[in-house]
Amino acid sequence: MNHRGILVVVSGFSGAGKGTLMKELMRQYPERYALSISATTRKPREGEQDGREYFFKTREEFEQLIADNALIEYAQYVDNYYGTPKSYVEDQLAAGKDVILEIEIQGALKVKQQLPDTLLLFVAPPSAAELKNRLIGRNTETMEVINSRMARACEEAKGMESYDYLMINDDLQECVQLMHSVIQDQHYRTKFNRDFAAQMAEELNEMMKGE
Ligand code: 5GP
Repeated sequence: MNHRGILVVVSGFSGAGKGTLMKELMRQYPERYALSISATTRKPREGEQDGREYFFKTREEFEQLIADNALIEYAQYVDNYYGTPKSYVEDQLAAGKDVILEIEIQGALKVKQQLPDTLLLFVAPPSAAELKNRLIGRNTETMEVINSRMARACEEAKGMESYDYLMINDDLQECVQLMHSVIQDQHYRTKFNRDFAAQMAEELNEMMKGE
């Protein structure tokens, strides 16, 4: 069966709980998944570490990555750049890991355009009111930032239909299991198993010749 990893993009409104979801998925299946670490010009939040949550860059450094063609995609989100470093993703896919990009919608669509086999998952909270509560409850953002993230969510809601699957993050564990099974199902798609199909056809051919 298919040994190359599958590229998965997970998007969702800021505050939908994607970060927690990803951490839990990685904790439960560390051998199966690799989580790509993005580069960003945003300042680290309290508790965030360079090279763990993000590679924190200056604007000049980020623009150099763009110039060097070192990013699969990049986008601007609420006044900052965010982008996906290319080499890590390629290495992990070749090593057979399913690679997860937790990125926003503009980036997701760019990845899908370049790599059409990418699986696009959208995570949403159960309601708009719940989204606002989660953003406020986080306590890391000013009201101004919360409002700009809500405005951005309004925009992003229009893009949900471009995704392959929509997942409601109400119960964390349920959502983790759902995400895991949707991703693992992809390995059985015929389009990811063309080598197996070709080999089977060839073997059958050889066998017929021998008889
Ligand atoms: P935050 O500042 O809350 O960590 O992230 C803001 C948004 O940027 C989130 O929607 C997140 O998914 C997105 N994001 C993080 N990394 C990347 C990336 O490499 N590329 C793109 N296009 N978006 C990203």
